[in-house]
Amino acid sequence: MKTIRKSLAELHTLLVNKEISSVELTGEYLDHISEFEPKIRAFITVTAEKALAQAKKIDQKIAQGESIGPLAGIPMALKDNLCTEEIVTTCASQMLREFIPPYNATVTSRLEAAGAVLAGKLNMDEFAMGSTTESSAFFLTANPWDLSRVPGGSSGGSAASVAAGEVAYSLGSDTGGSIRQPAAFCGVVGLKPTYGVVSRYGLAAFASSLDQVGPLTRTVRDNALVLNAIAGYDVLDSTSVPFNKPDYTQFLENNVKGLKIGVPKEFFEHGLKSEIAELIKQALKTYEQLGAEIEECSLPHMQYALPAYFVISTAECSSNLARYDGVSYGYRAEAEEVIDMCETTRAKAFGPEVKRRMLFGTYALSSGNYEAYYVKAQKVRTLIKQDFAQALAKYHVLLSPTTPTVAYKIGEISEPVACYMGDVYTIPVNLAGLPAISIPAGFVDNMPVGLQLIGNYFAEGLLYRAAYAFEQNTGYYQEIPALLREAD
Ligand code: GLN
Repeated sequence: MKTIRKSLAELHTLLVNKEISSVELTGEYLDHISEFEPKIRAFITVTAEKALAQAKKIDQKIAQGESIGPLAGIPMALKDNLCTEEIVTTCASQMLREFIPPYNATVTSRLEAAGAVLAGKLNMDEFAMGSTTESSAFFLTANPWDLSRVPGGSSGGSAASVAAGEVAYSLGSDTGGSIRQPAAFCGVVGLKPTYGVVSRYGLAAFASSLDQVGPLTRTVRDNALVLNAIAGYDVLDSTSVPFNKPDYTQFLENNVKGLKIGVPKEFFEHGLKSEIAELIKQALKTYEQLGAEIEECSLPHMQYALPAYFVISTAECSSNLARYDGVSYGYRAEAEEVIDMCETTRAKAFGPEVKRRMLFGTYALSSGNYEAYYVKAQKVRTLIKQDFAQALAKYHVLLSPTTPTVAYKIGEISEPVACYMGDVYTIPVNLAGLPAISIPAGFVDNMPVGLQLIGNYFAEGLLYRAAYAFEQNTGYYQEIPALLREAD
């Protein structure tokens, strides 16, 4: 039980010193998954056999005296919108319930090449549309800190599995906050990289100009280690950017002296819970004591980010999801005529949130509305980018709460718009394509709270440095859910 709560670096040391084999370690994680899944339900698929086969390969390498990388032999899991060859990839939708991809996403291949052990595929909001994982077509996932609450979304399974110690780390995807918000709700570290830093090849597209894949981990160092393995140019993704990838762990120095932190005042509005505001103020004090310089700043167009996001993301989703027509992928309804077959397939196999968004997006793109909605939203996007550019010319990083509230009770958010409001602090970052990280910043109502750090393009290293200093000086990451303590 305690072994599986160790950091990646500690697990790696145990493996290379032969204090535990990868098969044994994987066995421990799989036992823990069996014990906890009835309560958490983070996994859509557990790939026990494949995990043990991968673990065996790593053990052979160790036995032969070969050196292994920092992720080798350690179990992880992937959000179920990342393609895994010969392993069902559902996007938590009836549409893809039985879809078995013939290829791996680039991130899947890169982790495989790094020797990572795939323990399974994780629950999510259907096609990554949502903030609670309640729009999964299959089942709800519980928050390990309080089983009556949601883990957040859309990468709810990714966050819950890490918080519950079921895997050492996971990958999620973030279109408007889907890595950072569940990370905040579950008390783990979640990074949304700069757009183009991690390949989207093999990620089932929701809104292509906003989607990014990123790691969810228990610590900042673990996060940097996983980013090392998945980041970098990919010829298979035309939006992937060629850049000199650093070793992200080199930035992990416990030093923020002289770091200039801007605090956008607009990120303290929109129904921010006062106790969360208080924790963020404490965090600012911590940074000040560590030698950082704090200043309030303004991003004047932030109030338009949410509406612009909903026009752009739904427009792109209406186009991306047109491919699920019963012909090429997944579910197919029975009908005499092709057109009836397509219509019935889509009517039956998409859930209500996905349908709502496709309808909204189609409306925004149709002639007569296009100029009024889509073109205007793109202009707003440019203004938001400019706001960030001005602020980031003055400050190294921007700091805000990740979310205005702690994790909701299951069923609490029934109104779609109320749900969308929970993303006010994360969405602007995706519109600008910037990197941002959410790290644990304390507790309100016994639930974890996240702090968001936003950096300039390709400044993931700087984000890690700022995040690491805070983590090391506060130690919130050492807290674990009562459920895990009781199981010890
Ligand atoms: N919660 C946001 C939405 O519903 C973001 C989703 C995401 O990042 N995939 O669109």
